[in-house]
Order: sequence, then structure tokens, then C-alpha cells
Amino acid sequence: MEFSKEEISKKAEYCLSCKIKMCQKGCPLGNDITQFISYVKEGKYEEAYKTLCETTVLSPICGRICPHKSQCEGSCVRGVKGESVSIGNLEAYIGDLAIENGYDIPKLTNERKNKKIAIIGGGPAGLTAASNLARHGYTVTIFEKYDKLGGILRHGIPDFRLDKNILDKQIEKILDLGIEVKYGAILGKNIKLEELENEFDAIFLAFGANISSKMGIEGENLNGVYGGNELLENNNHPNYIGKKVAVIGGGNVAMDTARTIKKLGAEEVKIIYRRAEKQMPAEKKEIENAKKEGIELLFQTNVVKILGNEKVEKIECIKTELVKKEGEAREVPIDIAGSNYIIPMDYIVMAVGSKTENEIVQNLGLELTKKGNISVDEHYMTSKEKIFAGGDLSGTKATVAWASRSGREAANEIMKFLEK
Ligand SMILES: Cc1cc2nc3c(=O)[nH]c(=O)nc-3n(C[C@H](O)[C@H](O)[C@H](O)COP(=O)(O)OP(=O)(O)OC[C@H]3O[C@@H](n4cnc5c(N)ncnc54)[C@H](O)[C@@H]3O)c2cc1C
Repeated sequence: MEFSKEEISKKAEYCLSCKIKMCQKGCPLGNDITQFISYVKEGKYEEAYKTLCETTVLSPICGRICPHKSQCEGSCVRGVKGESVSIGNLEAYIGDLAIENGYDIPKLTNERKNKKIAIIGGGPAGLTAASNLARHGYTVTIFEKYDKLGGILRHGIPDFRLDKNILDKQIEKILDLGIEVKYGAILGKNIKLEELENEFDAIFLAFGANISSKMGIEGENLNGVYGGNELLENNNHPNYIGKKVAVIGGGNVAMDTARTIKKLGAEEVKIIYRRAEKQMPAEKKEIENAKKEGIELLFQTNVVKILGNEKVEKIECIKTELVKKEGEAREVPIDIAGSNYIIPMDYIVMAVGSKTENEIVQNLGLELTKKGNISVDEHYMTSKEKIFAGGDLSGTKATVAWASRSGREAANEIMKFLEK
């Protein structure tokens, strides 16, 4: 555990226990933050855990890797004049204690329901939906492509940010609710949607959207151009020793890939981002960490083309200026004509966005959005009855807490549908 009991107690005492709970509003999961912190103040840790379990089953994970500054902590009243309450640290502490002391995720009924639900994908959305259904007495089977659960928590977020030991233990706790898992089960390859429709009363699709988008620029097909999502998911990297690498993008994937590549021995890593630092979607803490580790960040810089014979040799960049445009919430980066320059480069990593796996989603016979996500209505139902979808796959805001919320809410909708 990162903090002592005394440190945690001090962090809890700093909370003002506001009557109007702005922190709860800022949390995508709607955790009752002031209530769980009140229990921490009284030393009632199991009660604090039970309070968190009303809305989340991912406390030790969200406590560590949620973008707190733009969610709960960003809404904390303490933060208006000074430092906000360390909500993430407190949540992680309680989540860790629950693992250490064996506090169970409470079941919500002892009654068994005679309905079976298939969940496709064992990431935050799938795991949360599965727990909610199992806690209500339903029979749940998760179908997962890999031999381990966790989704991007395992095959994306690097170990230096999320200890996989904690993840394993939390997943164990979730599976203790009585959830069955079929590993190595890939929808669209060795399992078909129709087969699941025949066997299950409802299906929840939560297999994510972890394919790197491309920029559509010249040279993108040269050897030495990679997708950040794939590098992290497969943990299969080229030899970076003595090499120069450019990572293009400004979000989590860009930060995690750049930092991983630097740790793997690259001589030089540059993050190229077309907007300003203050517009970067990555957490401030991650940007600071990247800088400390010697990664260079080039702001207001766009990539025009990648140059080389068969393999990457150089990258052509251009400076941008930020311009206010009507109808746009934030300033738009515009290339400054004639400001082009070329830098030598060995590898380029695209981290400009993530999308769904075309080959699979297009063959499911379900309606898709323009962006290629699975289309759902306000009840998380797809264009086919009894098939629901959530998380990154259906285009939910791509954070763990939002994916998890969609899993929890979709499970509630599935229960309503099954009990109709
Ligand atoms: C590198 C990176 C870093 C991130 N960092 C953060 C962060 O710090 N904080 C934060 O809040 N969010 C972060 N995110 C976003 C967050 O991880 C995602 O929004 C979240 O994991 C989405 O959850 P999900 O359950 O929808 O999908 P996923 O986590 O992608 O899980 C999908 C699951 O489905 C499985 N699967 C895929 N295809 C199939 C198939 N055909 N059949 C069966 N199973 C299948 C996968 O193996 C996986 O287990 C990050 C994302 C990335 C890529």
C-alpha cells in the first residue's frame, strides 16, 4: 500500500463532507464520495468499501488510474482555493484494504434468477455488467478473447501505472460472485452471435475499440510505422536501442506508448501534438512524468508526411497556430504555411485515436454509427432485440469509469428487459 493509515486518515479529515456533493457529480460512476470518506474518518473501512460497492467494483483500479483531475477531484470544493481532496488515493486505499482483508463485493439478493446472460469482452464494461447481473442472481458467462480478463487494464495500461497483481486480485473478487468465463473465445472467429442468441436470454457486447486510427498521410504504410494501441496490446516492440521515435497524439495512448518506448531504451522519443499543452487530453501528471523521463513534447506541431525508401527515415512537420472558429468549443489548429521542417526518425507511432475492429463489427448484422461504433438506444439496446452494447465499443467516453458506468447501466436495462 502506498500510504500509511495515518496519512490516509489525514487525507480523509481534509474532506469537508459537503452537503452538496460536487465530487459525486464529477464521478462518472456517481460514487458517494463524501459518505465513503466519512467512514474512513471513523475508521470504518469495510463500511467505506460497501459504500463504494454500491456504484463500482473497480475501486483499486479507478483509485489509481482515473483522470481524477477532470472527474471527481476536479469538482472538489477544496480545489477551488487550494488542493482538492485526494479522492483517488483514498479510493485505492479502501480497494486495497478490501483485497487484503477479504471484504467481499456484497450480493444484492440470494434469490437465483432463471436467466442466462452472455457478456462479450472482459474489460471494465464487461466486468462491471457481469458483476451487477451476478449480484442480482443472474447466471453470467463472460466470453473473452485472451486467457486473462481486464481488457485495456491488462493489455494497454503499462505496469508502471497499474500493478497487474492488484488487477488480478480484483478480478478474482469479481469472479467470486459466481461468474463463469470462457477464455480464448473470439466473437466473429470461433464464436458466432447467432449461436449465443440461441443459448442466452440476453447478450452484452463489450469488446472495446482498441485499433489505432490512421492519419491518412503519405508514407504511413512504410515499415517502421506502428499503431500505439497495437504495440501496447501485443507488447511486441521492435528494438528501440539507439533509435529515434516520434509518437503522434496527445492522449493516454500517446503518453503510455512514449513512456514505454523510452523505458525500452530508445535514444530519443518525441511526442508530436498539433494543439497546445493545455489542450492535451492526457492527465497533467502523465505529461509531467513524460517530461521528467526525458521525452520531448512538440506542441502546435502537425505531421505532413513520413519519408523513406521502404522504411521510415524522416518525418516532415509543420507548425500550427490556434484559431478561434465559430461553432467550435475550443481553438482549432491551423497549419502555418511555409513553416515545414524535416527531422530524421527511425520509428513513428500513431496515437491519434482508437476505433473498433471493422472486420468483426461489420459482420454482426447490427446497426453502426458513422464512426463505426455499435449503435445503441437509450436502453443500451442495439438494433437487435436482446443484444445490448456498451463501453468503448458503443462510443462511450473512453475512460475506465465511463466504460464501467455503461456496463452497470446496461446491466440494469438488461434486467428490466428480462423481467418484462
Ligand atoms: C493505452 C491506453 C491507456 C489508457 N489509460 C487510461 C487511463 O489512464 N484512465 C482511464 O480512465 N482510461 C484509460 N484508457 C481508456 C480505457 O482503458 C478504456 O476506455 C476502457 O478500457 C474501455 O473499456 P471496455 O470494457 O469498453 O473495453 P476494453 O478495455 O478494450 O475491453 C474489451 C475486452 O474485449 C476483449 N475482446 C476484444 N475483441 C473480442 C472478441 N472479438 N471476442 C471476445 N472478446 C474480445 C478484449 O480482449 C478485452 O478484454 C486508456 C486506453 C488505452 C488504450
